[in-house]
Amino acid sequence: MAVRPILTWGDPRLKLNSADVDAWSPELDQLVVDLFETALDEEGVGLAAPQVGVNLNIAVIDCSCGEDPAQKLILINPEITKQEGSQIGPEGCLSIPGIHEVLERPKKVTIKTRRPDGTWTEICGEDLMARAFCHEVDHLRGRLFVEYFGPVKRQVIKRRYQKQHKPS
Ligand SMILES: [Zn+2]
Repeated sequence: MAVRPILTWGDPRLKLNSADVDAWSPELDQLVVDLFETALDEEGVGLAAPQVGVNLNIAVIDCSCGEDPAQKLILINPEITKQEGSQIGPEGCLSIPGIHEVLERPKKVTIKTRRPDGTWTEICGEDLMARAFCHEVDHLRGRLFVEYFGPVKRQVIKRRYQKQHKPS
């Protein structure tokens, strides 16, 4: 198991569209283990492969933050198939450390996702899990949550972020 370095806001690799997984491999098993380990190390709810520089449609989610192994979800080539309602709450991202902003997301989200063995399943998530589904699928499409805000607000957030992360 290894914690991998996370790419941060401004890295062009975070803006790429990731590719679908065709065949599963031991390397991808290791990637998934590392993604869980890295998310846990940073106390994140989820992490997408492009955040560690691997542009494949793979992400992990653990809404229990390491407390309950049964809550570990691996998303492979995920697609949102249904969304309902709305929730308004703070959102953050391990690629934009220190920034939390209120963002509206659907309350309930259904996702279609592949399993490592090639079969497909549908998972329905509410509240935090629904938010995580949207957030991680966005990463796989090269989108960060701050991009939902208008240019003025985004500039303000960027300045705040840069101030926090100024090398001292
Ligand atoms: Zn993120």
